[in-house]
This record gives sequence, C-alpha cells and structure tokens, in this order.
Amino acid sequence: MTAPDPFARTRALFELPEGVIYLDGNSLGPLPRAARERLAHVVAQEWGGLLIRGWNEAGWIDLPARVGARIARLIGAEPGAVRAADSTSVNLFKALSAALALRPGRRTILSDSGNFPTDLYVAQRLAEALGQGHVLRVVAPETVEDALDSDVAALMLTEVDYRTGRRHDMAALTARAQAAGALTVWDLAHSAGALPVDLAGAGADFAVGCGYKYLNGGPGAPAFLYAAPRLQAEAAPALAGWMGHAAPFDFVPDYVPATGMDRMLAGTPPILSLSALDAALEVWEGVDLAALRARSIALSEGFVAALEGREDLVLASPRDPERRGSQVSFRHPEGYAVMQALIARGVIGDFRAPDLIRFGFAPLYNTPQEVARAAAILAEVLDAAAWDRPEFRRRAKVT
Ligand SMILES: *Cc1c(COP(=O)(O)O)cnc(C)c1O
Repeated sequence: MTAPDPFARTRALFELPEGVIYLDGNSLGPLPRAARERLAHVVAQEWGGLLIRGWNEAGWIDLPARVGARIARLIGAEPGAVRAADSTSVNLFKALSAALALRPGRRTILSDSGNFPTDLYVAQRLAEALGQGHVLRVVAPETVEDALDSDVAALMLTEVDYRTGRRHDMAALTARAQAAGALTVWDLAHSAGALPVDLAGAGADFAVGCGYKYLNGGPGAPAFLYAAPRLQAEAAPALAGWMGHAAPFDFVPDYVPATGMDRMLAGTPPILSLSALDAALEVWEGVDLAALRARSIALSEGFVAALEGREDLVLASPRDPERRGSQVSFRHPEGYAVMQALIARGVIGDFRAPDLIRFGFAPLYNTPQEVARAAAILAEVLDAAAWDRPEFRRRAKVT
C-alpha cells in the first residue's frame, strides 16, 4: 500500500477544470471552492442584505487586519504586523517611502536586475517625486552584497526571481543590509504560499506580496504589507488616506497616523476581493509549511529530471532546489510558440520574454503524476515540433 497523499485533502478544496494540468499558480492561483461560496454569500447576504450595515455587522472594516493575520502565519510575521490591502505595487510604494523616510541622509535604493519591473518602476518614480536626490541603483543579483555601501537607505529585493525562480538568502542579506545601516524591503510575490518564509526570524524591516498567486485570492486580489513591530510607530508612508488615520470617523482635516500597522492603509478596502482572499486562505489551515516545501521540491525536481539532458531546452533556474522558489523555467528560442502548443494540449504554464517558458508548482493542488505528464507532453511537443504553427506564434495581449 502506498502512503496516503497529504495534499489530496487540499487539492479537493479547489475547482480544477477537467483536462487541465495547471502549472501557472505562480501567476494566478485557481479558484478555491470556499472563495466561490463566500463571494456568493457576501454578495447576497452582506452587500445585498446588510447594505451599509455590513461595515460593522459583517466586520468588513476589520478585514484588512483579519486577512493579514491569516497571511502572517505563512510568512513568519509577528501578530498584527500584516495588513491585506491595495496592490503589491501600491504597497511597495508605501513600504519603500516609509523606509526612505527612516534613513534621511542616505540616497540610494539598491535593487537587482532580477526584480520585477513594477518594483523598479515604483522605485524610480518615488525617487524622482521625492525630489531629494534619491537614486535607484540596479545591480546583478550576485553582487547585491558588495553594493551595500553607506549611502544605501533601502535594499529592495524580490526574494524569488519571477523569471528564473532563483532565491535570495533573505536572512543573510537582511543582516548585511542592516549592518551597513540600510533597511530592507522584501517582495514576497513568489514566496508567500510557495515556501516557508520567516520575516521575524530574518529580522526583515518591510515586506509586501501578492494575493492572487500562490495565495489563490483571485484575479487582482488585494496584496499584503508587513512592517516589523519595531518600526511601526515611526513608519510614515508617503501615501496617506483616511483608513490610515488615527480616527477616520472624526473626519478631521489634518492627518494623524493611526498607531501600529493601520497607518499603512490608505483608502476603503475592496470587500468582495478581500472576502474571496479570506476564504481562499482557509485552505491553508492545518498545512505544514515544511511539508509544503518538501512537496514543492519533489514536484520541481521531478519536472527538471524528466527534461534535463534535452539539447533544445536550457534550464534557466538554479539546478539546486534549495536555491529555487517553487517554479522552474527553461529557455527555448521559440518559447512563446512552445507554450501556446502546450496550452492547446491542456498544460498551462506561461511565457516570459524573451525566451522563457515558466512552470509553477503549487503543492496544495499539483500532483507528481501531473508533473510527470506535463513533462512528457512538453517532450512530445518539442520532438514533433508541434509548436511550429502560425497560430502558436500569434501574441496575445497578456502572455
Ligand atoms: C506579480 C508581481 C507583482 C505584481 O504587482 P501588482 O501590483 O499586483 O500588479 C509585483 N512584484 C512582483 C515581484 C511580482 O512577481
């Protein structure tokens, strides 16, 4: 008898379309059954029935903190240190601006060339808008440590590279940054729900992350924001709004920041999206993150092992699973068409310019059998050059 699959329980909590092997949960997680039910309930009973009373009677006003508390466990955050709100981009703006304000006199935002474009764009425009001479310095991922000089105010990194899955050593880099006098801003978009994260253990200063990837909160789900408890009383994000005010319902003209993490909020929370994310996070109850990581490694290793040795695929991810997140990418000169041919066969991954085909492994619902099948289908597509058709070369707006 084989041992029961510990993730069969969580897989059953998702709506997974028949005939699809879904390896794109790193871009958009699938629909948790609980989210479908919660949305129906919130729409009909709360919005439809309670109307404005929902803010108090259904506890809408506390959702950013409640959802934040669910995420806190997944990222090793202290109680009360996480809020679910806004998008990752907006949260990054808030976190980075707060970090820069805590390091007056320093002018460098240090990041790396593996960072996601939105992170770099936010930093560029924030630096310009502050008008204090801040600059964004982007170095190669391997040279971040050497670039930590006495002008660095904030080290802003994404822990797991969205293209290659390469993973930074968060604890080591945080310690090095702080020793150099800088604060850290970590983007956990490809970490939260993909692998265990220990923000408190690493001593991280600020972090942000995404609600619609491995957390399965639905398209455009609210993101999250973390600030270390030691910084919360001083943190002053450049984006303020009434939800971050000490007394929003006093409606006074002057801004007084709330105590603690609520000061990192800006405007009215999106209750439908937050409710879906809240329900999606129920799936995580009882999930052991060490077991999740072991499963993630088993899945990605199975995929790499089945395909390595092919001359037409170049592994773009670190070969050592300890140095990866929960995704694997290969380079292929016709990567876009290859991915379209795969999708036509029910294997959904995605393509990242210029030549990467990317596969995310979500232990909550992906199985070793699916991964083996996906690798076999990819091998067939390549062996038969099944990608070499005009319809697979036509680029859609979203890749
Ligand atoms: C997906 C992703 C984002 C997305 O930001 P949005 O504001 O939600 O569009 C940001 N940063 C990284 C590293 C990502 O992977």
